Amino acid sequence: MAERCIFCRIVAGEVPASFLHQDEEVIAFRDIEPQAPTHILVVPKAHIPSIGELGQSELIGRLIQVANQVAQKEGIAKAGYRLVINCGREGGQVVPHLHLHLLGGRKLSGSLG
Ligand code: 5GP
Ligand code: ZN
Repeated sequence: MAERCIFCRIVAGEVPASFLHQDEEVIAFRDIEPQAPTHILVVPKAHIPSIGELGQSELIGRLIQVANQVAQKEGIAKAGYRLVINCGREGGQVVPHLHLHLLGGRKLSGSLG
């Protein structure tokens, strides 16, 4: 079997992470290099390389639902937050395992890049 990606290794418990949510399909943990006071990654357990390869799926709805729940738990839901999914090289995706960024805890810039 090919070497697993870093998020598959976190899913497998081989690499530690600061978890905020775990269920049979989805995990959420703190980003190692936070870009905002709250920066959490919401990640499907299945290795899907990018959102571009998701196809017809209810998974994206589940990822957003978990992000909303974690935002509530973190106490940023009322003030607001941003959900970001990078796709591919020019989209700024570095880890080739689908993930959703939950960013908040400060006023985020209006720029989309
Ligand atoms: P991307 O640029 O692919 O959308 O985002 C990947 C994110 O994963 C980055 O924000 C990066 O800081 C985070 N990251 C990369 N490796 C690790 C790791 O080993 N642990 C955690 N918690 N986050 C990671
Ligand atoms: Zn993976």
